[in-house]
Amino acid sequence: MKEFDYIIVGGGCAGLSLAYELEINEKLKDKTLAIIEPRAEYKKDKTWSFWKVALHNFDDCVKKSWENFSVNIPKKTNHLECKSYPYQSVDSGLFYEKINNKLKKNKNISFFKDISEINSKDSFIFSSVPIIKKDHRNLWQHFCGIEVKTQNNFFDDEIFNLMDFDCDQRDSVHFFYTLPYSKTSALIETTWLSKMNDNSQKDYDNQIKDYIENQLNLKNYKITYKEEGAIPLFYPTYKETKNKINIGTAGGMTRLSTGYTFLNIQEHSKYICKNIENISNAKKFEINKKYQFLDDIFLRVLDENPQMMPDIFFNMFKSSPKTVIKFLSNKSNYLEDLSIILRMPKWTFVKALFR
Ligand SMILES: Cc1cc2nc3c(=O)[nH]c(=O)nc-3n(C[C@H](O)[C@H](O)[C@H](O)COP(=O)(O)OP(=O)(O)OC[C@H]3O[C@@H](n4cnc5c(N)ncnc54)[C@H](O)[C@@H]3O)c2cc1C
Repeated sequence: MKEFDYIIVGGGCAGLSLAYELEINEKLKDKTLAIIEPRAEYKKDKTWSFWKVALHNFDDCVKKSWENFSVNIPKKTNHLECKSYPYQSVDSGLFYEKINNKLKKNKNISFFKDISEINSKDSFIFSSVPIIKKDHRNLWQHFCGIEVKTQNNFFDDEIFNLMDFDCDQRDSVHFFYTLPYSKTSALIETTWLSKMNDNSQKDYDNQIKDYIENQLNLKNYKITYKEEGAIPLFYPTYKETKNKINIGTAGGMTRLSTGYTFLNIQEHSKYICKNIENISNAKKFEINKKYQFLDDIFLRVLDENPQMMPDIFFNMFKSSPKTVIKFLSNKSNYLEDLSIILRMPKWTFVKALFR
């Protein structure tokens, strides 16, 4: 059986981002890489959006970028600017195509459907396949989005809506997210932050239809694409071993209070690439411990007080948008952290800290 210097298990966002980073930095000229990916074909299956607080390799896969956004609770809307850190939406179809076209030109890179097809005994492994143990206490961000096309101009494509809490909360945390790609097309997503112990919040199609037709007052539209997913708001378990690093969601790259993962994956890929020659001894890359600590308290508050969350999110965005964006994107300094913390209901958070 064939042997390889490196194996990437899972050719999704993290696996392909890492392979691309290694390839463009010429780390695979004299080394061999196997990518293990079971999917039969690559097609658009996700839209990765984020505030661009760091450089990445995929500006040419950005479908649309915005410099303004809004956050709503019933009867109140906050309009915010994000010129310094535009919000970008990466089309996964373009991302997969760009990377695979590049990788297939290097004879040192091979693709397999299952790791049993190769000898992995002496390879260094990067795995993006999370081990998620079923636990009814775990919180998830679960969602479903559709892209709609209208015949006439309907959307204001200069501004996206990050969170619209003016909807049925069902004793949980629920909001709609709208990314207008043009005046006649948009991604509209229903999003829940909850324990997902049953299917009672999963009537996604009805929720979206009701929102579009009765809240947005849009009656004539065509559905052109649909995506559904669930992001764990907890760290998957894994065993530390000398010849393996977990990447992507499996590697703890999700910011637990927001679900944002894409840019953290890019930063992790750059870190691995920089240290690849001595990767077994490199320090573990992780989201700064201060965010892990703050997110843990935040999620405890969310779990215990879902009814408070629309106001909590709304108030958070009363800080300067630049500060909130930096905080939510792991780039804030202590003063900026403090300005966010001071906007939170103090006793609720103090109680959660000691729970
Ligand atoms: C629908 C959706 C939308 C999202 N939107 C955003 C967003 O807007 N912004 C953001 O920052 N984050 C977003 N996320 C979170 C995160 O960025 C993505 O989940 C991202 O794809 C995580 O990358 P990954 O490589 O860890 O996982 P994946 O991209 O899921 O890749 C894992 C790969 O492993 C493969 N695989 C599975 N089992 C095996 C096996 N046994 N052996 C080998 N391979 C296997 C899968 O086929 C898959 O290709 C979104 C997540 C989802 C699900």
